[in-house]
Amino acid sequence: MTKSVLAIDIGGTKLAAGVVDAAGTILARGEVPTLAAEGPERVLDRIVRLSRDVLAAPRVSAGSIQRIGIGCAGPVDRGAGLILNPPNLPGWTRVPLVERIQKALGHPAVLENDANAAALGEFRYGAGRGASSLVYLTVSTGIGSGIILDGKIWHGLRDGAGEVGHITLLPDGPICGCGNRGCLEALASGPSIVRRAREALATMRPSRLLDVGDFTAADVVQLAREGDVLAGEVWDDTVRYLGLGVAAIVTILAPERVVIGGGVAQAGDFLFEPLRRDVRRRVKLVAVESVPILPAALGPDVGILGAAAVALESK
Ligand SMILES: [Zn+2]
Repeated sequence: MTKSVLAIDIGGTKLAAGVVDAAGTILARGEVPTLAAEGPERVLDRIVRLSRDVLAAPRVSAGSIQRIGIGCAGPVDRGAGLILNPPNLPGWTRVPLVERIQKALGHPAVLENDANAAALGEFRYGAGRGASSLVYLTVSTGIGSGIILDGKIWHGLRDGAGEVGHITLLPDGPICGCGNRGCLEALASGPSIVRRAREALATMRPSRLLDVGDFTAADVVQLAREGDVLAGEVWDDTVRYLGLGVAAIVTILAPERVVIGGGVAQAGDFLFEPLRRDVRRRVKLVAVESVPILPAALGPDVGILGAAAVALESK
């Protein structure tokens, strides 16, 4: 019987579970809304029910499950198996997730923060295949990241490593959710793009964004593509901020790949082409032309495949 794992991805808006074999094939999957406002007990019940449904799927052979991998919004205490106090899971304070899942489902479980899990998923099954090191960034509501060095997640002191979204780019810049000013996340995440566009519009400059009203980062990208000058400037700045972040990563770690996912990366070549140019222009001491900067390859499967990779790697 081939070895497989149960992968659980816990997000602020949805819960996903899947059974994945060692080759990264998803044998069964399911998804339900998190309904995080109902608190940890109800959400834990939903996770267990969803997991049991997935384990009962026809393609899953009883007894093939070796382990459970769980990816969850951080901060988490991996060693103790605790969810500490993620901002998008209100009321979850030091929840003993690993113990509860193991007891309910009867398999050993491992926990990882979702950005690290996603990095390992892309490394094993996606845009990082064949490399030995990779830095993964997800640019959406926030900017999460994970660092893979010599094939393993680099956790750092107290699992604090890999917060690329919180490197300072503007010392007196806008306040960030982390409490610092001018972080990459406070400048280039989806909501930060919208905020900068609103600030530009407040100077009474014309833009078709005014016709959109309650616009999103995707609207800024679309209008920038269509030649709207203000949207174009906001987007150019976004690329420049991301370029500063990626150039810092490449200069410090010289990873074999940089992989970028998340909603903002949906801009495709409109992001990646100028971003590569910007990074190559800035980095002088690393063979930057040999560092591919690539879109994430796993799409919406990254949560499940990341949690599966965590389970498969753990001993
Ligand atoms: Zn920050």
